[in-house]
Amino acid sequence: MKKKLLLQMDCDPHASVFDAVVAHDAGVDALLQQSGITPDDVRDQIYGLMFTRGGSDLKNSAAFIGGSDVVLGEAMLKAARKSFFGNVRVSVMLDSNGCNTTAAAAVAKLCGEKGLQGEKCVVLAGTGPVGKRAAGLMALEGAEVVLTSRRMDRVKEACDEVNARFDVSIQGAEVANGEQMRAVLDGAYAVLCAGAAGIPLLSKDIWASNADLMRLGDINAVPPLGIEGTEAHFDGVEQDGKLIFGALGIGNLKMKVHRECISRLFQSNDKIFDAEEVYAVAKEMV
Ligand code: NAP
Repeated sequence: MKKKLLLQMDCDPHASVFDAVVAHDAGVDALLQQSGITPDDVRDQIYGLMFTRGGSDLKNSAAFIGGSDVVLGEAMLKAARKSFFGNVRVSVMLDSNGCNTTAAAAVAKLCGEKGLQGEKCVVLAGTGPVGKRAAGLMALEGAEVVLTSRRMDRVKEACDEVNARFDVSIQGAEVANGEQMRAVLDGAYAVLCAGAAGIPLLSKDIWASNADLMRLGDINAVPPLGIEGTEAHFDGVEQDGKLIFGALGIGNLKMKVHRECISRLFQSNDKIFDAEEVYAVAKEMV
């Protein structure tokens, strides 16, 4: 039995320790860590995997793309796919900054059994990597998605990016004060706080008095939390008639999904785990 080898291609100067630990916990025998990788480097890295083990042994070599820059990560995934020919290929997962696994876990929790079809869903401070992925996945679920930012130019850029990537049509809104927050949440069924760590976004007087809001999620685990009056460990806790999912509640599922996707990379040599595939795993596991 050949060892399971995972090539960790990371665009940052130091490859992510977080991703390395998860890889080991997912059953990888040896990790080949490469940092400072650019899309131009990817082909030769992938060739190193493709040309060392043939036939059915190829499934024991796989690649993981990480690092803090999702745009670079996507370009790296594109370069990896371009390197393949015929069945000479390896399985690849993209999870720059945890964007796919975190967004997938958050949307799967907010979805619940009822789903989001036709529902207004708001992604607050959705201009970061996780927020954009979450907005795209919600739109694929049939939700009417509104992504917010403090600045209209950033809203537009993020919405254009999400709409192009997921072939959807999300809307944007500037939210820089309480009045704008109340207006954007009017008629919303679900809200996800996707702001930077330690940034409070949604005050309790606004969410608790909103009769339409049913499901609230927050991925910021660093106090103060994104949603005032909640706890990071909430995992579907009911408060004021709403179901609330905190960053640790979502994070537990994220960790399981991340490990599961890594382990599935080694089932065959043709798997690609990007947002949609990672989300399918999250929906199975939620
Ligand atoms: P990010 O890029 O760091 O930030 C997202 C957005 O937050 C920014 O684009 C910005 O939006 C807004 N923001 C920044 N500072 C702000 C401030 N002072 N006031 C209001 N808004 C502010 O976020 P990310 O990398 O996508 O990560 C999102 C969150 O997920 C973070 O809290 C991160 O720690 C967390 N995370 C959680 C898990 C988990 O498993 N639970 C995993 C990964 C990440 P605008 O400038 O456009 O307004």
